[in-house]
Amino acid sequence: MKVTVVGAGLVGLAVAWRLAQRGVSVVVVDERRAGAASRVGAGLLIPAGGRVSRHQLALKGRSAELYPHFIGELEEETGLDCQFRDVDTLTVALEPGAQNALSGMSGCLRGLGIEHELLDKQQCREREPGLGPEVGGGYLTADRSVNPEALLKALREACSSCSVEFLSEAAGAVSRSSVTLRSGGVVECDRVVVAAGAWIEELLKLPVYPVKGEVVLLEWSKPLVYHHLCVQRESLYLVPRGESTLVVGATEEEVGFDVASGWQRSLIERADRLVPGVGQLKILESRVGFRPKVGDGLPLLGEYQGVVVAGGHYRNGILLTPVTAELISAYLLEGEISKFMRPFLPDRDLRDRRTWGREKK
Ligand SMILES: Cc1cc2nc3c(=O)[nH]c(=O)nc-3n(C[C@H](O)[C@H](O)[C@H](O)COP(=O)(O)OP(=O)(O)OC[C@H]3O[C@@H](n4cnc5c(N)ncnc54)[C@H](O)[C@@H]3O)c2cc1C
Repeated sequence: MKVTVVGAGLVGLAVAWRLAQRGVSVVVVDERRAGAASRVGAGLLIPAGGRVSRHQLALKGRSAELYPHFIGELEEETGLDCQFRDVDTLTVALEPGAQNALSGMSGCLRGLGIEHELLDKQQCREREPGLGPEVGGGYLTADRSVNPEALLKALREACSSCSVEFLSEAAGAVSRSSVTLRSGGVVECDRVVVAAGAWIEELLKLPVYPVKGEVVLLEWSKPLVYHHLCVQRESLYLVPRGESTLVVGATEEEVGFDVASGWQRSLIERADRLVPGVGQLKILESRVGFRPKVGDGLPLLGEYQGVVVAGGHYRNGILLTPVTAELISAYLLEGEISKFMRPFLPDRDLRDRRTWGREKK
């Protein structure tokens, strides 16, 4: 069997790797677009993060379950460290109204069966002594993170050692068994997988659109926080990465494919209020990426007009990488649509809820 995958983000590479491991001849086409999400993501692997439906929780839970083996295999094959770590997440609520916010959230987590430990202001400070005075309480969940850049590198290397072929080209059109390149060539194959992130709509009539996110990478000589630190009801988190880096994120804007960064100062100021001292750290860089989203915020997994789609992972693509590779490869090789995949088939009702660019339509 020959498969062409469009997109070499985490999703496309993981699918390519799983297929190639099972003897499929795989070509990956990628144009290395600015704003590809995978390199920019914070790398939080939090199954309980955000508002989740039962199906979504099951999908996230399955992927979280697959992660240790997925990383173990990848690290063994490549000898690379993906910086996959067990790190608890401390989600804090800010005063005023912290207690109400926390009891609401705790009820929600209980309903979803997610274990957590509620902490008052003092207990939060015992866990994270650097917290500023605005924090009124929080809750702790057992989580993990990975360095998405290291993961991308390892997946690319694992693909190469399974003889996956890479083409640095733009795909202009796709069909069940071919990809037409913008340069004019055609890649013939048995099946095509589109994993083109926020750009899927260029190739298929699916309303996937970009939700722009910016993160700032800071350097520290000694850690200021020890957990993943998230602020409830705010899009602010601090994620320690490796020995010397702190990732502060993330903005969320619907402004189309605009790669300009502009929120560095605001992110750092908000992080400094949460943990005084963050504002003094050396700035390494700002990164901008486009989260691929459809109206209901859920992934697209499965066949659409003869082409297999793996996309629309929005804020969870790093977490959902192993399960996506498992489901898409099982579908292509065995025709299996598992219970995890069925709720995310692309032929569901997909309303276009983007708020940007309507005047152009
Ligand atoms: C700021 C930010 C923080 C995030 N944090 C997290 C997090 O903590 N945890 C988490 O799980 N997720 C997180 N995410 C989400 C996650 O990064 C994405 O869901 C995931 O990376 C999407 O991967 P992908 O492979 O589908 O897309 P991408 O990584 O965008 O890859 C798509 C690829 O397709 C290529 N491409 C597109 N069109 C074409 C074409 N026509 N021809 C050739 N190539 C093409 C592009 O060049 C690109 O390489 C975050 C995202 C952002 C932006």
